[in-house]
Amino acid sequence: MSELVSTRIRATATKLGLPHLAGCLEQFTARADSEMMGYLDFLDLILEEELAVRDERRFRSGLRLSKLPHHKTLDEYDFAFQPDLDPRKVRDLASLAFVQAKANVALLGPPGVGKTHIAVALAVAACRAGFTVYFTTLDDMVRQLKAADDIGRLLGKLHTYLRPNVLIIDEVGYQPLERAEANLVFQVISKRYEKGSTLLTSNKSFGEWGQVFGDEVLATAILDRLLHHCDVIAINGPSYRLKNRLTAVEGAATTNVA
Ligand code: ADP
Ligand code: MG
Repeated sequence: MSELVSTRIRATATKLGLPHLAGCLEQFTARADSEMMGYLDFLDLILEEELAVRDERRFRSGLRLSKLPHHKTLDEYDFAFQPDLDPRKVRDLASLAFVQAKANVALLGPPGVGKTHIAVALAVAACRAGFTVYFTTLDDMVRQLKAADDIGRLLGKLHTYLRPNVLIIDEVGYQPLERAEANLVFQVISKRYEKGSTLLTSNKSFGEWGQVFGDEVLATAILDRLLHHCDVIAINGPSYRLKNRLTAVEGAATTNVA
């Protein structure tokens, strides 16, 4: 290929917003030569690679904006450690049909069973699939909304929690809320109802939500919207955080007995 033509292709590719083609033209043509590619295969290769680079870039920037605390995946989750949890139920969720359906997921259980891990893994999968994702703890969301409300900016701040396709509300129930705070949570849940997916984790059973939200009527109204379309996954098993410590304690106990 003449230098003139390749220079022109690079310039045109840049103008068209195809930076990968502009940067890798020589590699593409070398590969086409060595594999004796036909015209269609060559075009297919260029377009596929450009799309893959674009998807990867969008995924990375989506992850950055999501505020996820880490990027663990379901492959890193040891289902053998929670024999009462059906892996199929969780893997089904990873198909993201619930995100398409704008339905919700509630992960319930005591500390350390991997509620946040699974919520994050589903959020990473959603982000990879091109959905927008935002992570918050319940306390942080309430704090942010209250602060915005104090300066008359509640509507703007609400959008942070209404805009994403998937909102993860972590740690519902760690701190009981006051009525005005619970009302802010109700606004988020009711405005997201059938508009976007909410994925939440809680160490409290739904029966205890009246105490969490300081008001039975408000708690019922929140649960009503949340549970209408919702997969509930209860994980009732040992804490993974204590796994190694418990093994160490058990080991020491056995040594003492012996
Ligand atoms: P929870 O939100 O239920 O309190 P986390 O998801 O924060 O628990 O899990 C605590 C830690 O243990 C995290 O580092 C998480 O990745 C890890 N973890 C929990 N359960 C498992 C598991 N079954 N397999 C692998 N790692 C796990
Ligand atoms: Mg957690």
